Amino acid sequence: MPAAIAETDVAAGTVAQVAVEARVGSLSGLFDYAIPHDLTGVVRVGQRVRVPFGKRSVMGFVYALQPAAAVLELKPIEAVIDQEPMLPALLLELAALVADHYVVPIDEVIRAIVPARVRAVVKRTARRRRQSRILKQAGSLPPVATVVLEPEQQAARERIDVALRRQESQVFLLHGVTGSGKTEVYLALLEDLLERGGQALVLVPDIALTPQTVARYAARFPGRIAVLHSALTEAERAAEWWRIRRGEADIVIGPRAAVFAPLPRVRLIVIDEEESSAYKQERLPRYHAPTVARWLAQRTRAVLILGSATPSVVAYHAAVTGTDHLLELPHRAQGLPLPPVTIVDMRQEIAAEHRSPLSRALQSAIAGSLARHEQSILFLNRRGLSTFVMCRDCGVVRECPHCSVALVYHAALNRLQCHYCATTEAMPRRCPACGSRFIKSFGIGTERVEQEVRSLFPAARVLRLDRDVMRTADAADVVFERMAAGEADILVGTQMVAKGLDLPGVTTVGVVNADTGLHFPDYRSAERTFSLLTQVAGRAGRSTRASQVLIQTYTPEHPAIRHARYHDYRGFYREELEVRRAYRFPPFTELIVATYGHRDQQRAERDARAMAEHLSATIALLKLGDIQVLGPSPAFLYRLKDEFRFEVTLKGADLHRAAQALPRGRGWSLDVDPM
Ligand code: ADP
Ligand code: ZN
Ligand code: ZN
Repeated sequence: MPAAIAETDVAAGTVAQVAVEARVGSLSGLFDYAIPHDLTGVVRVGQRVRVPFGKRSVMGFVYALQPAAAVLELKPIEAVIDQEPMLPALLLELAALVADHYVVPIDEVIRAIVPARVRAVVKRTARRRRQSRILKQAGSLPPVATVVLEPEQQAARERIDVALRRQESQVFLLHGVTGSGKTEVYLALLEDLLERGGQALVLVPDIALTPQTVARYAARFPGRIAVLHSALTEAERAAEWWRIRRGEADIVIGPRAAVFAPLPRVRLIVIDEEESSAYKQERLPRYHAPTVARWLAQRTRAVLILGSATPSVVAYHAAVTGTDHLLELPHRAQGLPLPPVTIVDMRQEIAAEHRSPLSRALQSAIAGSLARHEQSILFLNRRGLSTFVMCRDCGVVRECPHCSVALVYHAALNRLQCHYCATTEAMPRRCPACGSRFIKSFGIGTERVEQEVRSLFPAARVLRLDRDVMRTADAADVVFERMAAGEADILVGTQMVAKGLDLPGVTTVGVVNADTGLHFPDYRSAERTFSLLTQVAGRAGRSTRASQVLIQTYTPEHPAIRHARYHDYRGFYREELEVRRAYRFPPFTELIVATYGHRDQQRAERDARAMAEHLSATIALLKLGDIQVLGPSPAFLYRLKDEFRFEVTLKGADLHRAAQALPRGRGWSLDVDPM
């Protein structure tokens, strides 16, 4: 234990700002300490130190050292824990920005972005690294031949390369249709960059679902890649962190958290499919990786590339009107056409008394592909889709006893399950409400579609991919490999089959339920639907064989569906932007949602109302009358794990002005820039 240092030993001149691990709930989490004489010159930014906090002694990270006139009132640092700074100053700076913008204490941010073993273990344990299956396989692949970029790809690469060479922090939105060769552009840029000694960060929405993509990077840059996938153990995660920190990997590929990878010389940040909601963390701290990447790029003078076939309206707007640069790849590589899309109006199927979840047109398309020994992908939109259980006599839907959602029926288990709290129960034989025996499952799920496919096409080899199949980290990988090897004819899946797959054998793509995601109380539901449909459609036509896409819908007139029919991003964007303008949603305004939960229903509403009134009053006092306070209103998930939940929403420009007024007490949680 460090010896106590007398107050008189304190040097006047330098103040250390320390991010304390105190769980005090203060906004910044940063506190000033004096540096005692014997630690002058020893204390450095990024070091762990021990500091007095109230009556306790706590651990903290030195965030900054600043000259100051009067330090005598400050308590001194007690001891330095490690000689070498553990955290790079840049990472601390990012943590502070996250803490500030998302209104989370900085110690909580540090806990979330630095692996537990890195923070806790004083002695570094060098463990053997277990390589991911993908890297192992890629290691045994022959080195890939570099493709020659096509003129559009080359033009985009040159524009970005100028900024890279000048070390200018610029943001490029690379909008390229599915299969336009965006990844080849990234690979070419990375090759040049690595030759010049630079390093790069590549973010993908979900590592487990993009094995093909990761393998392409690994094959191109053998031995120089760190993959931060979710299957790493804590020890492996810490080992990778140190390997990256020591500069032993030049490219880090990972999901959203990889934006905090401690790369010493990051010059390029690539965010593929920037619109993906996987980049927003749904638990604390609720950060958005592309936003954090912007801050990182500014501070390191790095280049940020946001890539997408269907950019978010916010990102496209920023590229068209703001300081970001728009680069477009409007054609597929190798002269391949985008596949034609047919809209199937399911209301006509019902009128024709055709009751299968697969329309007649889709069935004949699948049959055609089968006959030609080609493959099909059937996509079910998971959002808004569930197989619930309802009584046909009294109409009561079986709900979770702890959450206000219907229980989901799993045919394979013959059980009902809550997808929010994991409660399960046996499928009831009689309606618990009225005793009727006419209780059955409604709606369609992947299992139901799989059954239908098997009974319609008994000779076909069928694979299914959804959350239930994803029991192991490599499950998706195995399914994709079997499709690629031609060992299956039909793949049925949810969101997991929608993106990234480049399978030349696929000539039919069917969207079973295009519109279920449209009816969410969420300002991005149209954008999400358009994006999904366009991405799924993009799985077809990856070879010179004729392909087709069929989209089944009950609302063919919806803009998200109309424009997906022609792969028309601009058309969708223009229409959607006007909706956002009219209803004041991003990019025209900012949002913060404060949610309050309490086990007592009346308490929940009363407390939330009191806070909304207090918030309005404070905002008036701060002369921020342009900021709207909406609610309280019941949350979409009104009851969750036995708590009743109400939301208060702030809407307006520059909401950060109201940061000090935001509710932060027990029961409250904040979501800044919800999506
Ligand atoms: P995106 O990232 O835009 O979806 P990819 O980079 O995955 O596109 O490219 C789609 C397909 O086209 C891949 O199979 C890729 O190998 C191929 N491709 C891309 N660019 C070229 C090129 N210049 N020459 C030959 N093939 C290319
Ligand atoms: Zn009943
Ligand atoms: Zn539940």
